[in-house]
Amino acid sequence: MQFRDLQAQYQKYKDEIDTAMGEVLEEANFIGGRQVGELEQELADYVGVRHCVSCANGTEAMTLVLLAWGIGEGDAVFVPDFSFFATAEVVAFAGARPVFVDVEAGTFNLDPVKLEAAVAAVAAQGRWRPRAVIPVDLFGLPADYRAIGRVAEQYGLWVLEDGAQGFGGTLEGRRALSFGHAATTSFFPAKPLGCYGDGGAVFTDDGELAETVRSLKLHGKGTEKYDNVRIGVNSRLDTLQAAVLQVKLQAFDNHELADVQWVAARYGARLGELVGERVETPLIPEGFTSSFAQYTVKLPDRARRDGLQAALREQGIPSAVYYPRPLHQQGAFAHLGVDGAGLEVTASLCGRVLSLPMHPYLGAADIDRVCRAVAEYLR
Ligand SMILES: *Cc1c(COP(=O)(O)O)cnc(C)c1O
Repeated sequence: MQFRDLQAQYQKYKDEIDTAMGEVLEEANFIGGRQVGELEQELADYVGVRHCVSCANGTEAMTLVLLAWGIGEGDAVFVPDFSFFATAEVVAFAGARPVFVDVEAGTFNLDPVKLEAAVAAVAAQGRWRPRAVIPVDLFGLPADYRAIGRVAEQYGLWVLEDGAQGFGGTLEGRRALSFGHAATTSFFPAKPLGCYGDGGAVFTDDGELAETVRSLKLHGKGTEKYDNVRIGVNSRLDTLQAAVLQVKLQAFDNHELADVQWVAARYGARLGELVGERVETPLIPEGFTSSFAQYTVKLPDRARRDGLQAALREQGIPSAVYYPRPLHQQGAFAHLGVDGAGLEVTASLCGRVLSLPMHPYLGAADIDRVCRAVAEYLR
């Protein structure tokens, strides 16, 4: 059994993917081929925003937006303490101060009430200027953009949706990557929509921002090729990746998203029958849907989480801990001297979470095997 089975997906779409990649090889349009522009339009249409600008990966997508907004020294950017490192890394990389905010125990996502308290505290202290918030759609579930939007409006913050794991989720019928002033995603192979290498994209309705990001990703390009009007970076999605993503977006839309939701429902039902309350399954609140980048359960304590992971491993069942450590405790942020006050939910989650195998090609027999193994360990 695989944690995320990329080989099964390739076998199912081998003809389409080989043909799409073969066309790029024949045309030898490896950089900036027509497939890149086509894909950007298809992605913007799927998400429901005006502009999609592809780039090299999800981390650079965030950096490009922060650069375009002119965020840097003296600015505070609010990030969840429970996320992948990149969410806070890009803030520090831009020269700004990451301010870590706790998450909700149920959804794993940024807590809007604690966000407001954190913004008010930074504003009152006066050392850094509150400029932006980066909510994360963790494990495929959109953050609560309604409540976060109210806080952002009150304090004049930009909202950047980190949808690296969020592609395909919805909130009140709107698709992920359409929230905030801009949104970014990653096409790392294991994400909900992955390519065969690195890739990323920025989404926005703001035409001026889209233009600035297009310039920044191409060395601060002006109107013609050797006209450079700002300092930028080199951050492109190559044509081979775009061609693969065109096939995979179809598969995602046709059945893969529905299939992971079916897998999640079966996990929920079987775990409910076999272990009841001893394992907490993911909470998807009313009005939301998840694209289940991960299927993450909570155990009562660290000993049972670690014990369950070891027991699963013994039976050849892969699992993963996302994330073992709060962001503010990463060595790279040690110099910030952030203590854990007000970040207790994240600290507790880091000791209790376990992500089980999850992908659109996971069959009923495998799901049931995982659930039986969980029940056996907890008996
Ligand atoms: C994967 C991920 C990123 C970074 O994406 P890359 O394409 O690997 O650079 C950023 N934020 C979150 C939450 C992620 O899971």
